[in-house]
Amino acid sequence: MKPEVELYDTTLRDGSQGEGINFSVADKIRIAEKIDSFGIHFIEGGWPGSNPKDIEFFAQARRRTFKNSLLAAFGSTRRKKVAVEADDQVRLLLEAETPVITIYGKTWMLHVKEVLTTTPDENLAMIADTVRFLKSHGRMVIYDAEHAFDGYKDNPEYALATWEAAEKAGADNVTLCDTNGGCLPKEITEIVQAARRKLTCKIGIHTHNDIGLGVANALAGIEAGATHVQGTINGYGERTGNCNITSVIPTLALKMGKYILPEGTLPKLKELSQFVDEIANIRHDPRQPWVGSACFAHKGGTHVNAVQKVVHSYEHVKPELVGNSRRVLISDLAGRSNIALKAQELGFQISNDTPELKTILARVKELEHKGYEFEAAEASLALVIKKTVQHVEAPFKVDAYHVSMRRDGQSSVCEATIKVRVGDKRAHTVAEGDGPVNALDSALRTALVRFYPILEKVQLTDYKVRILDSGTGTAAKTRVLIQSSDQGREWATVGVSDNIVEASLQALVDSMEYCLLQPN
Ligand SMILES: [Zn+2]
Repeated sequence: MKPEVELYDTTLRDGSQGEGINFSVADKIRIAEKIDSFGIHFIEGGWPGSNPKDIEFFAQARRRTFKNSLLAAFGSTRRKKVAVEADDQVRLLLEAETPVITIYGKTWMLHVKEVLTTTPDENLAMIADTVRFLKSHGRMVIYDAEHAFDGYKDNPEYALATWEAAEKAGADNVTLCDTNGGCLPKEITEIVQAARRKLTCKIGIHTHNDIGLGVANALAGIEAGATHVQGTINGYGERTGNCNITSVIPTLALKMGKYILPEGTLPKLKELSQFVDEIANIRHDPRQPWVGSACFAHKGGTHVNAVQKVVHSYEHVKPELVGNSRRVLISDLAGRSNIALKAQELGFQISNDTPELKTILARVKELEHKGYEFEAAEASLALVIKKTVQHVEAPFKVDAYHVSMRRDGQSSVCEATIKVRVGDKRAHTVAEGDGPVNALDSALRTALVRFYPILEKVQLTDYKVRILDSGTGTAAKTRVLIQSSDQGREWATVGVSDNIVEASLQALVDSMEYCLLQPN
């Protein structure tokens, strides 16, 4: 079934321009794969003309297959007074080798004259030339009309002429952008309707949240006839952020009755939202609509009492619809089916009736209470499930370790010693590193490689630290997220402790155990 509204995610481009967001290439690949598995129709991966990291992203993305999403590269129209074929930024867009290319161009005369410092006609030619050129290379072309609404309010004839220039040159879609994020829903409605009267191609809507109306404006655009919506997971983006696609998706599906994603997708929404926050190293907002932990949390006597009698008395929808859960009245069944679903996803033969499910659920809840998060650490969750269901023993045990640090003039050196046991055999190794975790990782690996040569190939590819309760200062709990790979597979593990070295060791041990217990 074709979606009634296309979803276009720009977390990796517009979203990454938000303050405090900094994705590595590996982060971007992980997020793109997650969004693809969720099923959002388009993923804008980055702007190859603006930084080498995005060029590298597209080079890596080319080697992967995306099942559900089409990848888009983002860029601008050609420079003024330069032939489109000779524009390096446009050439880099083609070299990204994506099926979709999104380019932005100017609608607002103010920008044409004062920012581009060119003529209205040259701006029209820049739009048309670039769209035509990219279409001639067989790409789907989305034309993002920057400042579409402010431009239209200033000079409607010229604004329409820029959009028509894109359409006539072959653009598959003209997306109207509220770039400065200051429009009202009523203005969006009127201007999208005006565009619809003039254009025959698909119309998209791209809004920002500067006055808290990012989502409302996107929905106004859709009600006025847009059939393509752009946004970011959790509303990341410049200034106060973009339209939050994590809110748009369930609102379209559950409140406006639009078919947008296959059945069974929506319950994965909260997980997607948390996953992206974890990768961005941002605390998940408990008050985020639909997916925040407080969305269906009932506090205070009368509410709890009413909810106990009739669940929907204080809930606008069932929390499970978006993968969220009711707090206070934690439904054991919902928790159980969530875990069963997750276990199946990880390749275990588990149903809602598997007797060990209760034990797993209890263990997961206990760990989550201590500060563990499994959304972005599936390998650690897989270990909890595997140990419970298949009753497997840990392949090794760490009996003791010691980490020390010394400073000698300008340089500092960390040293770690570790004692491990495999069956009745023991190993005791020492290693140095540039930091305590690096030293511990080397010592652990050296000890284990004697027993398990396969671990030689395992590499630590990312390491993230989060302080869980910043209120208590240095005594706060620390969560460590580690990403590992062995030339082919990638997995992530988690550790929690009030000691950062201990938390890191837990995540390292999980990583090695996962490698050993998971058949290739
Ligand atoms: Zn934007």
